[in-house]
Amino acid sequence: LQDKLDKALHNISGRGKITEINVAETVKEIRRALVDADVSYKVAKDLTKKIQEKALGQNVLTSVTPGQLMVKIVHDELADLMGGDNVGVNLSGNPSIVLIAGLQGSGKTTFSGKLANYLKTKKQKKVLLVACDVYRPAAIDQLKVLGDQIGVEVYTEFENKNPVEISSHAIEYAKQNKFNVVIIDTAGRLAIDENMMNEIRNIHQKVIPNETLFVVDSMTGQDAVNTAKAFNDVLNYDGVVLTKLDGDTRGGAALTIRTVVEKPIKFISTGEKMEALDVFYPSRMADRILGMGDVVSLVERAQEQFDEEEARKLQKKIAKNQFGFDDFLNQIKQIKRMGNMKDLLGMIPGAGKALKDINIDDDAFKHIEALIYSMTPEERRNPAIITTSRKNRIAKGSGRTIQDINQLLKQFEQMSKMMKMMQTPQGRMMMQAMAK
Ligand code: GDP
Ligand code: MG
Repeated sequence: LQDKLDKALHNISGRGKITEINVAETVKEIRRALVDADVSYKVAKDLTKKIQEKALGQNVLTSVTPGQLMVKIVHDELADLMGGDNVGVNLSGNPSIVLIAGLQGSGKTTFSGKLANYLKTKKQKKVLLVACDVYRPAAIDQLKVLGDQIGVEVYTEFENKNPVEISSHAIEYAKQNKFNVVIIDTAGRLAIDENMMNEIRNIHQKVIPNETLFVVDSMTGQDAVNTAKAFNDVLNYDGVVLTKLDGDTRGGAALTIRTVVEKPIKFISTGEKMEALDVFYPSRMADRILGMGDVVSLVERAQEQFDEEEARKLQKKIAKNQFGFDDFLNQIKQIKRMGNMKDLLGMIPGAGKALKDINIDDDAFKHIEALIYSMTPEERRNPAIITTSRKNRIAKGSGRTIQDINQLLKQFEQMSKMMKMMQTPQGRMMMQAMAK
């Protein structure tokens, strides 16, 4: 029995943890916020489930509030989900062929220019851009303008309407002229259709790219996910480029795309300028999703509500004379959560003032907690039953002395009395007078 007891005690001795109620409330808020930030419901649900598992049993450090801790857990989980280290573009070919695919208006041409500029300036590559949007002459001009701007040659065949031929010719041209990288900008349609898919599939099969990148407009929110999936079914692409993240778009789609197609997000495009391209960092995107969805403040608000509710419950208990050691323990947790004794004042009706007068320091909390955890539920509810033999048992279990227990019991009694008193009209008046 002693063994079992020791084990049980050991299990709970690390308390000061985020509690079940606490987490359930908060997780609900998080899920709502994630969905608001364009994360699909299923992904948000799976994610919050994971978060819940992680959060439960986490120790709350004195310097961190459970709210903050939750935010950190959410952040890390988000970042984790969006993939670990950034995988660059595969440039192993000679020349390396990069195929750009996506819907019309998603930002393919702009990104092609940006990627060319990036590879030229950051990776010292000789890059050839290929204009394969044969349906709109303006699209070819657009790429030419961008090429001029960044000093990268653009391969065009204005008369040829066959993008498969154009790309093959371009690759030949690149080989002859010692280009390192060939970026093929393709045509897109406004929605997924068979012609477009066939065309991109044909180009893909012909040129056998080293890298196929799928470009998606982050402003399209949840729709982006369906598109990402459709293109992946046909191309099995290597990575995703999220564009137009410079507006107030929420990055939630990134998360969903990542989970649905299981392909890394490689770049994010944040403006129309050729330099507005960033390598994708999961941690930063997690910040963005958290910020945009207002998760941080929601979590904190949920936490506050939880505190208020607890305070109300406590007030009732005090009034009914049901205040026990478990409540005492909760108060200690709340104090620890605040990280600062003084902040406690005003948080719990009456209790703050009483605790302050008793002057418990941080280290003393640990001892008190150990003592309370060594009590049975019955003893916690009704400290009056704690006899000498019980005291001996508690002392043994907590590694404290009988004197410590006596002191705690005395403090508890004092506090209960004071709290009770604070609830009376006279008590309130006294407290108000003291506060002045
Ligand atoms: P494509 O049809 O896929 O080739 O898309 P485009 O590259 O032509 O881009 C469509 C529109 O979106 C153009 O007006 C671009 O200037 C604009 N665009 C592309 N990328 C971004 C971006 O990251 N941020 C912003 N604000 N606009 C972008
Ligand atoms: Mg285009």
